Amino acid sequence: MAKLVPRPELTFWERIYFVEIFKGLATTFGHARRTLTNPAASITLMYPEVQPDIPRDYRARHRLMKRPDASPRCVACYMCSTACPARCINIVAEESPDHHIEKRPAKFEIDLLLCVFCGFCVEACPCDAIRMDTKQAILAGDNRADFVVDKAKLMDWDPKDYPDTDVQSQKAPGGKLHAQALEEFKSGTYH
Ligand code: SF4
Ligand code: SF4
Repeated sequence: MAKLVPRPELTFWERIYFVEIFKGLATTFGHARRTLTNPAASITLMYPEVQPDIPRDYRARHRLMKRPDASPRCVACYMCSTACPARCINIVAEESPDHHIEKRPAKFEIDLLLCVFCGFCVEACPCDAIRMDTKQAILAGDNRADFVVDKAKLMDWDPKDYPDTDVQSQKAPGGKLHAQALEEFKSGTYH
């Protein structure tokens, strides 16, 4: 059932606009004065020379998580592609040589031109195999193919770029917890 949202009633001063225009100009000149008198506090960046510091929980370009042996954590269950509203995840599964895992992705592609960066794929994944915490939010390319990221590109990340508290990333090859995680992996106690 549709929900009716009441329109706010404007006062006389809001209806004639002049007061609101001057309130808007006061805000604009207030920002301009702060920037001119204290350039260090300016919120304008000299982009692209200065890149914005994007928060880790911002939904940016995806990555596929890795096991200690550098294989993908993904078990090709298709839950992410099923949850994806844009139908932009293309997975081809194959049999895994590890009988504990059963399946793995032979192909895993995301078309970022179709993606709406909703994060449903991350939420749907049952084994923390896909994340959107790369901070790579500024995507540029000169042809459509550049925006189709394949498995190799999705797995091309370095644990050094992720915080020590990110245990799963640090257990991947090159991470601070990798040696211990690899031992656990070989002994079959790794999760
Ligand atoms: S972020 Fe949303 S649209 Fe993009 S791949 Fe994931 S589920 Fe699909
Ligand atoms: S990324 Fe996660 S949800 Fe998607 S196929 Fe792999 S294991 Fe399943």
